[in-house]
Amino acid sequence: MFFCVWESFVEDFEVAKLKKEEITHLKKLFFEVQSCLVQEIGQLAFKSWLSRLSILKLKNGVLYFSLPSPFLADWVIPHYSSKIESISRKFFKNIKKIKIVVDGSGIDAVSEDFADFSKLTDKSNIKSSLLSPIDPRFNFKNFVVGKSNEFAFAAAKKVAENNKVFFNPLYLFGGVGLGKTHLMHSVAWDIQERTPKRKVVYLSAEKFMYEFVKSLRHKDTMTFKDKFRSVDVLMIDDIQFIAGKDSTQEEFFHTFNALVDQNKQIIISGDRPPSELDGVEERLRSRLSFGIVGEIHKADYELRLSILKTKAEANKKIKIGKEIIELLAKKITSNVRELEGAFRRLCAHVELVNSPINIDIAKQLLHDILRANDRRVTVEEIQKKVSEYFNIKLSDMVSIRRSRVVARPRQVAMYLSKTSTPKSLPEIGKLFGGRDHTTVIHAVKKVEQLCEIDIAFYEHIKVLKRSLGL
Ligand code: ADP
Ligand code: MG
Repeated sequence: MFFCVWESFVEDFEVAKLKKEEITHLKKLFFEVQSCLVQEIGQLAFKSWLSRLSILKLKNGVLYFSLPSPFLADWVIPHYSSKIESISRKFFKNIKKIKIVVDGSGIDAVSEDFADFSKLTDKSNIKSSLLSPIDPRFNFKNFVVGKSNEFAFAAAKKVAENNKVFFNPLYLFGGVGLGKTHLMHSVAWDIQERTPKRKVVYLSAEKFMYEFVKSLRHKDTMTFKDKFRSVDVLMIDDIQFIAGKDSTQEEFFHTFNALVDQNKQIIISGDRPPSELDGVEERLRSRLSFGIVGEIHKADYELRLSILKTKAEANKKIKIGKEIIELLAKKITSNVRELEGAFRRLCAHVELVNSPINIDIAKQLLHDILRANDRRVTVEEIQKKVSEYFNIKLSDMVSIRRSRVVARPRQVAMYLSKTSTPKSLPEIGKLFGGRDHTTVIHAVKKVEQLCEIDIAFYEHIKVLKRSLGL
């Protein structure tokens, strides 16, 4: 094995454009990388995961590799990319980092800048100044709609389909992995396809801050301001990130107002409603709730099942049985990202061993995910959270005191226990100081009634549920 740093060629290359001798040299270097990998991870793992890795291009100091399928990439990227990177550095001069992309469909990963992206995709009609890569897999067509997300979906569609601004901003919120980014990317694609002239900018709040700080450092805030104030649609993902970042908030507030004044559309996502964005100034919070606030709730069983069915449908080559799909939909309740991850893991396995799997193998392969999802909230956790929330003593959950100050929170805790744990009515009664099951029934009914007539009360329940991860 020889250690040779690639310095005799041009700094950037694309395999397709290289001369024959350059390709030969490149192959040699790549062979060295492969040999090192075999030594480090062993023949078997190399054959399973990395034998289909190929080299794609070197651009702006980034060395690109490709893999033929997303399933391989989903495994290889988290498990082997740092190894591939450290070995590549030995052979390729001055590379900043490596990137592994999926040939064909996963090209988005390469799209650090849109110039590259348009070369690589056939969506050449989409001219854009999108500041962060937009994932072509995230579109309205493959967003599965159910009760938990239909409002957010409808609002996003409305924004995408109309040049006129009906409400500003559209604020989407919900827990992680529930589809906020997917919906935002869908809007970006849709607008770009309908009206390519409109300038759509999508970026995370973190990137917004990074750009802003960079402009301050380079004493070039004017360019920054112009860049953001000349867009037609501005989308900022994960706004909660700017909590506590005062100057970024200030700048964002001004950008926001300038765009609203010009009647430009703004779409924001966050992990909680505007009113609960601690560390965000009041004036910005109230601005954020000005338009439409759409919550994406946790997916229910039907939606989880239909997401999995859609994925299986799109992947007919890999067979995952109906009962396995149902098991996943039943057990993996946390979020759609985890559900997808589990499904992909099974697909990767089927692809690798090239034979169908049964339910026991599926359970083994997913034991960590299934175990994590099995962990349900307990009555004790509910009692603790509720008493903290209403500022009463934990012991009052089981005490005989009947005054409203303690009785109402206790009823709330009983209601949450009944609706969110598998415990029966008598079991719950017992855990609340040995009360009768009819007391629990009464509590559940009372809370349901109050939720219907008292919005403030309903909000308390929602906040509590969220903080318990329900
Ligand atoms: P968030 O931004 O809310 O954390 P993402 O938009 O990144 O979540 O979604 C996580 C993953 O789940 C993505 O791969 C996305 O495509 C998928 N996903 C979420 N909701 C849906 C849905 N309703 N239909 C299809 N895929 C979904
Ligand atoms: Mg997201």
